[in-house]
Amino acid sequence: MPEQWYSLTGEEVVAVFQSDPHRGLDEREVRERAARFGPNELARATRVPLWRMFVEQFRDFMVLILLAATMISGFLGEFVDAATIMVIVIINAILGCVQEYRAERSMEALKELTAPEARVIREGMEQKIPAAGLVPGDLVLMEAGDRVPADLRLLQAVNLEIEESALTGESAPVKKKVEPIPGRVTPGDARNMAYLGTVVTRGRGKGIVVATGMATEMGRIAGLIQEAGSEETPLQRRLAQLGRGLVAFCLLVCALVVAVGIYRGEPAYQMFLAGVSLAVAVIPEGLPAIVTVTLAIGVQRMIRRRAIIRKLPAVETLGCATVICSDKTGTLTQNEMMVRRAVVGQVPLEFTGEGYDPKGQVITSLSPRAEELQLFFKIAALCNNAVLTRSGVSIGGLFRSLARRESPVWTINGDPTEGALLIMAAKAGFWREELERHEQRVMEFPFDSERKRMSVVYKQADGTLVAYVKGAPDVVLELCTHHYRHGRVVPLTPRQREEILRQNATMASDALRVLALAWCRLGPKPPGELTETEVERNLVFVGLAGMIDPPRPAAVTAVQRCRRAGIKVVMITGDHRLTAATVAKELGILGSQGRILTGRELDQLDDDQLKQMVGEVAVYARVSPRHKLRIVRALKQAGYVVAMTGDGINDAPAIKEADIGIAMGITGTDVTKEASSMVLADDNFATIVAAVEEGRGIYDNIRKFIRYLLSCNVGEVLVMFFAVLAGLPLPLLPIQILWMNLVTDGLPAMALGVDPPDTDIMYRPPRHPRESIFAHGLAWRILGSGLAIGLCTLLVFAGVHVLGHGHLDLARTMAFNTLVFSQLFFVFACRSEHHTIWEVGLFSNPHLLGAVLCSIFLQLAVTYVPYLQPVFHTVPLDAPQWLVIILISLAPPLFSTAFRHLQLRAREKIMYIKV
Ligand code: ATP
Repeated sequence: MPEQWYSLTGEEVVAVFQSDPHRGLDEREVRERAARFGPNELARATRVPLWRMFVEQFRDFMVLILLAATMISGFLGEFVDAATIMVIVIINAILGCVQEYRAERSMEALKELTAPEARVIREGMEQKIPAAGLVPGDLVLMEAGDRVPADLRLLQAVNLEIEESALTGESAPVKKKVEPIPGRVTPGDARNMAYLGTVVTRGRGKGIVVATGMATEMGRIAGLIQEAGSEETPLQRRLAQLGRGLVAFCLLVCALVVAVGIYRGEPAYQMFLAGVSLAVAVIPEGLPAIVTVTLAIGVQRMIRRRAIIRKLPAVETLGCATVICSDKTGTLTQNEMMVRRAVVGQVPLEFTGEGYDPKGQVITSLSPRAEELQLFFKIAALCNNAVLTRSGVSIGGLFRSLARRESPVWTINGDPTEGALLIMAAKAGFWREELERHEQRVMEFPFDSERKRMSVVYKQADGTLVAYVKGAPDVVLELCTHHYRHGRVVPLTPRQREEILRQNATMASDALRVLALAWCRLGPKPPGELTETEVERNLVFVGLAGMIDPPRPAAVTAVQRCRRAGIKVVMITGDHRLTAATVAKELGILGSQGRILTGRELDQLDDDQLKQMVGEVAVYARVSPRHKLRIVRALKQAGYVVAMTGDGINDAPAIKEADIGIAMGITGTDVTKEASSMVLADDNFATIVAAVEEGRGIYDNIRKFIRYLLSCNVGEVLVMFFAVLAGLPLPLLPIQILWMNLVTDGLPAMALGVDPPDTDIMYRPPRHPRESIFAHGLAWRILGSGLAIGLCTLLVFAGVHVLGHGHLDLARTMAFNTLVFSQLFFVFACRSEHHTIWEVGLFSNPHLLGAVLCSIFLQLAVTYVPYLQPVFHTVPLDAPQWLVIILISLAPPLFSTAFRHLQLRAREKIMYIKV
């Protein structure tokens, strides 16, 4: 096959690939080619194999020392001890490995969810597929904001511009064309090609896939996917630092225990092994892995609620969000538009019907033959790129008899605003395919949120060129010099202009999204030479179309939830001020105090003035994407933590600048998605609020298990430390220490990571982003609970040791069980910082219940199974002994909960006094 696709014509390339320029490939052919050419993917770097992950677990310094000490004890004849320690260390490593493996796989699954997609035409139907599924010969559609999904020879380029810096290093976008290029040129000069990985910055286009995967230009140069290393969250970074501090501290205490023990006359070798075991048990080496797993599981939970996290730090920031700036159309509203009212030549029109079903009536006093009415519908149908489909089949004029069949599912491919206009025209009997039999589109100036209008140029049967324009009424009216009435073009007087704007305002204040339709005849210039300004001037105003876009019911509740959670909601829209205001009131965003600011007013404010008032503004209307960046910056300067949504390519800078950039999964462009930290799979505002709730829950859970793990570890160290200080024998043997670490730190701590969020989590104000993980007295509570666990265990040990006349194994068994059970009970107290376990519900986290029961079972096994008793140096206990253990083990959680409640009550009183 030739490599110089640019030197062939489009038809020749299509012929080489045995494709069809309109229908594309059929599914059977696609399957065959997919088998022949493989997936359209660049090779990935190989991932870390499982065995390497397992070996890595033994790289920990203290674990190595423990292994060395165990080996020595093995040589000294303590085989059983050595073997058991080995087994425990290996089980620990397996647990660590499982945690890491799960964390990694869920991160990979995430990447797959955000894998690029492509719009293709196959068997005549437009569909969205994963870009990896493209095969040579596929027809691909692209528009501004898309990343080119394979190497393409362009067949259509409407103002198409592509930024190819990923390939050529040149950041200025290149204007594309479709004509063949003779000779030999470099990819940078192949203007009729689009290359994998480059970005469409303007216009739209269609191309045929000529190379996929490693056969593309990018595959040849880059070779591998540039995988962004998984980013650490600020919390993970802080915990890593904290971890180093804790390791030093633990080592110090353990060394002290060893030194004091030896000084007191304990055998040095046994003290050393106990010290090392203690260090292994209390050093929270599993903390970063549990944090990662919790984040990853939280991310999975978010996916179930339709929020896809692209950058892990967003999970944490979400919980701190103090303002959510949301687009209106499609996010707060349903984006299922329908034209309800229109005004043509000062005469009102009404439309009946539902959804995208083209059945409905036009109610008006105008005769259906009135020329202005005919022109109005014609503009609506022709200045339009949407495609109406009926149960997946595109419906043109030729097939519209199909539309009379029973209960079809009508959908729109393309922009819903245009879809609504297409349906409106269809209701009056105007179908684009039929109109295009008499005139041909020769040019298009696409819609974008900055221009707020779209124009097309058609060549009529007699050769004259006409422009059809639609867009925001204020924008289009400024380009109009005339209007069309009773079949005549008459100059537009200032009074008529005012009248049109008044009609626009009336419709807008009924929450309608209004578009103006205009038209004009163009001079004899060849179409290729016409510029945007030449086409869009001296326009003739024809009429206004007002469409409804009802608010999403879930958005109303979500806005209320935000208010209770101390989060401000701001609506940003390109729509008219009055449309925006009415919708914002319906949604509860605009109250009596909120302000509305328009793009024009925004332009008149300097950054300082904007910063001063940004806290009061609830709605930004008639804004362009470039305003969004200013809004984000002003909010950030005013101290807000900003979540901002966006879809178009021009939204990308604002999304990047926001603390949490949110892209739309359905309508969002690739570039916006890439700039974002979160993607909404359903484009729904309520999903953002659900993600915030999850974000808060995840942070809470991290705090919960940090509290649990560290309290337990403090308790473990203290019991050993106090015992040696008091001149008592060692309350726990190395094996017992290591075992305890396994049954208390492993499963229960992980189960805390999946604890359901507190019911009042969305009734609290947002957390400050720089707040320490130990804020609100957590550090003191950890020390307090640790002290309680340590002292309770010591009490049991010392009591039994003294009263039991030196029956050391019994004292140890009871201390061992008290320590384990007090931790297993304490885990329930860690489930909420604001509520008791009864309020939270003992059974509301089945994972935790299962984990604790499992640990209790294992603990009873080492106490009672005859084979295990000599290994763990335990003796069986009777009922009164258990009663003592259970009662004393309940003390730390009860003490911790009671203390917290007194604290909260005192705080409430203080607040009450302050009020
Ligand atoms: P957002 O998606 O940010 O909520 P929006 O949908 O409210 O934005 P835009 O899509 O930027 O706003 O549209 C701004 C204005 O441009 C609309 O009020 C409408 O008058 C006009 N408009 C919208 N879509 C089109 C289109 N396809 N062709 C021409 N004009 C359009």
